[in-house]
Amino acid sequence: MIRKFLRKVFSRNSPASESIATLSVIPNKRHGIRRNQINPCALKIATSLQQAGFSAYIVGGAVRDLLLGLTPKDFDVATNATPEEIHKLFRRSRIIGRRFRLVHVMCGAETVEVSTFRGPSPDHEEDSAVTPLTDAHGRLLHDNVFGSQEEDAVRRDFTVNALFYDPVKEEILDYLNGFDDIKTKKLRIIGDPVQRYREDPVRMLRAVRLASKLGMQIDAQTAQPIGDLAPLLQNVPPSRLFDEMLKLLLSGHSLSCVVELRARGLHHGLLPMLDVILEQPLGERFITIALKNTDERIKQNKPVSPGFLFAILLWHEVLSNWSALQASGEKPMPALFKAMDQVLSLQHGKLAIPRRFDAVIQEIWAMQPRFEARSGQKPFRLLSHPRFRAAYDFMQLRCESGELSAELGEWWKAFLSADSEEREKMLPKQTAGKKPRRRRSRKKPSSGSAVQPEKSNNPESL
Ligand code: ATP
Ligand code: MG
Repeated sequence: MIRKFLRKVFSRNSPASESIATLSVIPNKRHGIRRNQINPCALKIATSLQQAGFSAYIVGGAVRDLLLGLTPKDFDVATNATPEEIHKLFRRSRIIGRRFRLVHVMCGAETVEVSTFRGPSPDHEEDSAVTPLTDAHGRLLHDNVFGSQEEDAVRRDFTVNALFYDPVKEEILDYLNGFDDIKTKKLRIIGDPVQRYREDPVRMLRAVRLASKLGMQIDAQTAQPIGDLAPLLQNVPPSRLFDEMLKLLLSGHSLSCVVELRARGLHHGLLPMLDVILEQPLGERFITIALKNTDERIKQNKPVSPGFLFAILLWHEVLSNWSALQASGEKPMPALFKAMDQVLSLQHGKLAIPRRFDAVIQEIWAMQPRFEARSGQKPFRLLSHPRFRAAYDFMQLRCESGELSAELGEWWKAFLSADSEEREKMLPKQTAGKKPRRRRSRKKPSSGSAVQPEKSNNPESL
């Protein structure tokens, strides 16, 4: 029954692919990609598949990036061999995925993704009546149907992502004019933009991310429906939105992506009230500085923690909830913790920030008031916190954005570079004499905003 269904789909010619695809073969002297630029594992896998009688190509982002002079993140292989045939050929491989069955081929410490050419989803009335193929908004729910190479090109998102590089013949097969679009730096969706965004609204986010990352212009027809279709993102499973948002933020072009998301009305529902935040002068300045800083770190190959990034993006939400709670009579620290909880629980629903990031985000936020307490042993205790560095960087961004005084940031910079004797001198003289009284007063906390209950932040007491 399934075989019959697949055969039927396999043999069906897709009207879409017939009308928009024409094959051009681009020889090595025109494209200039050298075989030694291809990841050796991917090269070996594609060659072995060809030697076994299959067709096999390097596809997608890797070909695009090489043509643009960028370093590809990963090298994917596409072939007409089925997952079982691929698995049989490579001892160290496993078939993964339910919706898209792919093969992971292990090669040394690396893993290369090998996928069978996929075709258009069946659109027969009788089939879709049994298992719906799209949701009520046209979003594709099933698209794991094998197809021809041409069909595989047409089901991809953008023309520049649909190039096939044959590492044996060293030529590129181009069905959709992607090669010219690379040369003219045009990001063009394949097929009818409205239908393609309806099938998968994440393509709208990919358009923004790829245009920023590749320095390309989104073609006018590709861009045109985005504003109207933006609400479709609400139907995308939150975990997928989270993955895409993370890719966007870690792309090294997060600032231009966020600016572009906002310009195209795509930010709603991704991070609640990103629009509101960006409209408050301090919030906008804070996020702009922080994202610029993140992009810089990524360009220098320095690590960026997703927890830190989300702490940044949500901070002004926390601040406004925090002051509202204090205005309604709550004490500063309980109000901060309540505000943190409110903001994070809203996020869990919308963007599905996995709970594993909560601890980092909360620690960074909860340490902030402690930077304002510059007396006695407090700065020393703060320094020894395992998450000090992230919280310190965060505090410096707050100073840079004007939320805190520049003097505070300078003081901490000096404190960090000072030796222990100098550090003692930097702390107010009278604090030494006041020590005993401070201990007593901790039992009954004052309402000063800079006072952080030590217990809640001491990792050993958690
Ligand atoms: P990156 O540089 O982020 O890896 P990429 O284009 O390689 O960019 P991947 O997510 O690795 O992105 O996807 C690999 C390929 O799969 C793409 O080049 C594209 O051909 C195809 N693809 C990915 N996402 C979609 C989608 N939502 N719809 C259609 N095709 C897609
Ligand atoms: Mg990729």
